[in-house]
Amino acid sequence: MKDYAQYSFWMETAGESLTPRASLAHSEEVDIAILGAGYSGLWTAYYLKRANPDLRIAIVEKEIVGFGASGRNGGWCSSRFPVTPATLRERLGKEIARNLLQVMFDAVDEVGRVCSREGIAADYRKGGILTVARGAHQEPSLRASHEAYRRLGLETHTQLLNAAQCRDRVNITNVCGGLYTPESASIHPAKLVRGLARTLEKQGVAIYEQTEVIGVVGGAEPRLVTRSGELRARQGVLLAGEAYLTRLRKFHRALLPMYSLISVTQPLTPAQWAEIGWQNYESLASYRLTVDYLTRTADGRILFGSRGAPYRFGSLITDDQDRHAPTHSRIHQLVGEWFPALKGIQFTHNWGGPVGMPRDWMPAVRIDPVTRIGCIGGYTGQGVATSNLAGRVMAALITDPGSPLARLPMAQRRSPNWEMEPLRWLVVRYMQRAFHRMDEAMEAGKPRPLDAKIVEAMGKH
Ligand SMILES: Cc1cc2nc3c(=O)[nH]c(=O)nc-3n(C[C@H](O)[C@H](O)[C@H](O)COP(=O)(O)OP(=O)(O)OC[C@H]3O[C@@H](n4cnc5c(N)ncnc54)[C@H](O)[C@@H]3O)c2cc1C
Repeated sequence: MKDYAQYSFWMETAGESLTPRASLAHSEEVDIAILGAGYSGLWTAYYLKRANPDLRIAIVEKEIVGFGASGRNGGWCSSRFPVTPATLRERLGKEIARNLLQVMFDAVDEVGRVCSREGIAADYRKGGILTVARGAHQEPSLRASHEAYRRLGLETHTQLLNAAQCRDRVNITNVCGGLYTPESASIHPAKLVRGLARTLEKQGVAIYEQTEVIGVVGGAEPRLVTRSGELRARQGVLLAGEAYLTRLRKFHRALLPMYSLISVTQPLTPAQWAEIGWQNYESLASYRLTVDYLTRTADGRILFGSRGAPYRFGSLITDDQDRHAPTHSRIHQLVGEWFPALKGIQFTHNWGGPVGMPRDWMPAVRIDPVTRIGCIGGYTGQGVATSNLAGRVMAALITDPGSPLARLPMAQRRSPNWEMEPLRWLVVRYMQRAFHRMDEAMEAGKPRPLDAKIVEAMGKH
């Protein structure tokens, strides 16, 4: 049997046995069948049950609850949406963009409300996000980000901080200023996903683990096909497999698996915390193109995440990509650069996983009225709070299509497919390398690479 604890620090410290639940043993008939026991599948089931407690729902999971990104993420339950406020305004107009971000602010609180209501001890702490400009070269991004919120009339939801005000919160080197957004919480991802699963089981939802869906059939008798039987669903089947869904041929180009990698330090000493501050558990980031995200864990460690593992030809997803030595050593080095007091600190866990990236970065929640196949996902690394909203949107599409949730921009939409290989590999690898080159040049005080404008236009989101 797989050692599921080794997939992340979070799974190891989930506080419960990871022994798999029973698999699907024979065919069954339910109202709604869901593929995937991560946040998307579980939130959808949760809100469907709230809307109609009589619904019969079953979830099938290839591994165990929380095996995917939901049990491996950076612990940011944040109001950040995968598409930036500036691009949302451009694509959707001011009012729709503003409303979407306000709904995202509330999604952060909704996760906290469910944890309280259902007694899920997920270490939920609403400390906000502090995004710092590390170096003068990051200041234009900081100003642009603040301006984007201002243009949407959301300036009261952000606070521009000078270097000293940032340092009062967290003592990070080389900071010129920062943007503080209160609407974000830190969580223990695995305690959340596994707590949700237990809540659903108490409500009568069946969860079958170690059961791979190998076929999806729509139409008059929608069903999920597994090797041990079919899950026939009177009302519809919902696919919540995120990046892993691309392993099914039909959905291969719907998303792109992009690896995000994480390292966690040993617990810091009280003296180290006194030097660093960070008493309010803000989620931390900078404006690097290659992404950095940091969390202070409830047990006093620092989690540092970043991108960098190369995209593999054909959208390959394999366990060996969860660890990428050059990216993990760069993360270890960055921890020492951000916090010199931690130079030489031990890293106890290194892991990673694929995020599901749509071609236009826009999550999608839709159910086809003819095939009765629904899809939910595409959060590009911003899926903790967004999947809660997406789950509510999916439940509304099924039980209350007239509700405002069912009219949000993510509802009933489809992103364009990714290009075929080898074009996909060529473009994605070029972009990954270009972001690295741009970060490196700017950090070394060199001029921007000649292709910077093209790369920014291609990577705009
Ligand atoms: C390293 C990392 C860090 C991240 N950090 C953050 C963060 O800090 N904040 C944030 O908001 N987001 C973050 N994300 C993204 C966030 O975790 C995801 O967007 C979110 O968890 C997606 O949930 P999901 O349920 O849609 O997908 P998943 O949690 O990936 O669940 C999908 C499930 O479907 C199952 N499945 C797939 N195919 C099949 C099949 N054929 N048969 C049966 N089961 C199947 C998989 O085994 C998996 O368990 C991060 C992601 C990663 C990988």
